[in-house]
Amino acid sequence: MAKVITLNPPLSRREERALIRAFQLSAANDYPNPDRTGCPKGVALLKGIATKKLAPSHPIIQHVAECSPCFREMMHLRRDLNTLRFLKMAAATLTIALMAVLIKKR
Ligand SMILES: [Zn+2]
Repeated sequence: MAKVITLNPPLSRREERALIRAFQLSAANDYPNPDRTGCPKGVALLKGIATKKLAPSHPIIQHVAECSPCFREMMHLRRDLNTLRFLKMAAATLTIALMAVLIKKR
């Protein structure tokens, strides 16, 4: 079981975001893996991480934390999924607004 470290005093939200960003930059650049040793075939597992549907204990998560190319692919998939989610919400909001205008005009 992983040891949980608590900071005293705890980090502010800004400090927490800066720390997460530093970890992300390190994971994206510090582990080049040019031969792609141990990398998964296809994007299914990376998509599983991006969508948080993979169990935290899955061994591919440790690989992605130590393989910059896989980490960058996973972050790219996550950004694409977030963009798609935003576009779906925007389309739904516009549809509701349009229906409200059309109903009001009757
Ligand atoms: Zn990899």
